[in-house]
Amino acid sequence: MITNITRRFLAIFISSFFVIWRSRRLRKWAFIPALIILIGYLLPQKMVIPVQGATTQDWNVASFWAYPWGTSVTHKGIDIFNPRGSNVISSTYGIVVYTFDGGKGGKSVMVLGPKWRFHYYAHLDSIDAFPLQPLKIGTVIGTVGDTGNAKGKPPHLHYAITTPFPYPQLYDKEAVHGYKKMFYLNPDTWLRP
Ligand SMILES: [Zn+2]
Repeated sequence: MITNITRRFLAIFISSFFVIWRSRRLRKWAFIPALIILIGYLLPQKMVIPVQGATTQDWNVASFWAYPWGTSVTHKGIDIFNPRGSNVISSTYGIVVYTFDGGKGGKSVMVLGPKWRFHYYAHLDSIDAFPLQPLKIGTVIGTVGDTGNAKGKPPHLHYAITTPFPYPQLYDKEAVHGYKKMFYLNPDTWLRP
C-alpha cells in the first residue's frame, strides 16, 4: 500500500503534465502542475509526535531501517509504543488520502501533508478519519492498537513518511534497500525538539 500511493501519485502527476503538454491548446498551461508542486514544497512543515502523551523515549531511533525485518526486509518507519487506545494524532496538517483495514498495516490511515510527504499511520485499534478529511496538527485520527502484522506484539503506532519525489542525497549504498531511503524519510528527523 505504502509504496503504491507514491507511485500512483507520481504516475498521475506525470501523465497529467504530458496530457497538457501534448495539446497545442493547453500547452501554455503546462506550468500549472509545476506550480502546484512548487507551492506544495513551499508550505511550511511543523510536526508533533503522532501519539498523544508519547515522548521521544517511546520509540527506538535504531528501529528505522532495522534489518532483517520479516517480510518487509527493512523497517521503513518507526514504532511508537503506547498503551492500546491512546489517541493517534496527525503529526502535520494535511488531508486524509485513504483509510484501510487489512494487510500488514491492519487498520491504517494515509495523510498527505506539506512538501508532498505522505504520512502513514498503521496498526490502529480504531480509525477516526475519512478520505479527503482536512486535518490540523494534532487532530485525532484513531487509536493505538496491534492490528495487521503487529497482532500479539505490544500495541504501537507504526509511523512512516514517504515522498513521491526522491531525495537523491538520502541514497545509501551501504544499506539493504538503500535506494529506497530516497523515498522513505526517517520520521525521527522531525520529532525531536
Ligand atoms: Zn513498524
